[in-house]
Amino acid sequence: MSDCIFCKIAKGEIPSKKLYEDDEVIAFHDIRPIAPVHFLLMPRLHVESLNECSEVHAALLAKMLLLGSRLAKEQGLGTGFRTMINTGTGGGQEVFHLHFHIFGGSAALPKT
Ligand code: AMP
Ligand code: ZN
Repeated sequence: MSDCIFCKIAKGEIPSKKLYEDDEVIAFHDIRPIAPVHFLLMPRLHVESLNECSEVHAALLAKMLLLGSRLAKEQGLGTGFRTMINTGTGGGQEVFHLHFHIFGGSAALPKT
């Protein structure tokens, strides 16, 4: 998607503070963090949201979940972290390229 901001980040056309990348996924720090550590994990593949995922994306989604846990620990979130996936306008999604928010590091995260 040529006009997708996260595709541009994936291609390096827009700068980001990357903490991990491989041939399938990229993790980078959120530009407006809501916790001391807050990063986003996304596939290079342009998929709008979890609602557009199907069985063909199952392995990629599993990889992202497991990688998120590993990266959270590497970022100092050894006691735990929160994962948030905003899906669609009803879910408060603003950037329509699938991404997981992973954040933590506050003394107390609000109960949701
Ligand atoms: P949402 O689509 O609601 O899950 O939220 C999109 C997230 O992307 C927000 O937390 C933004 O702060 C973040 N964001 C938007 N643009 C950038 C950018 N260029 N670099 C890093 N994070 C971004
Ligand atoms: Zn995209």
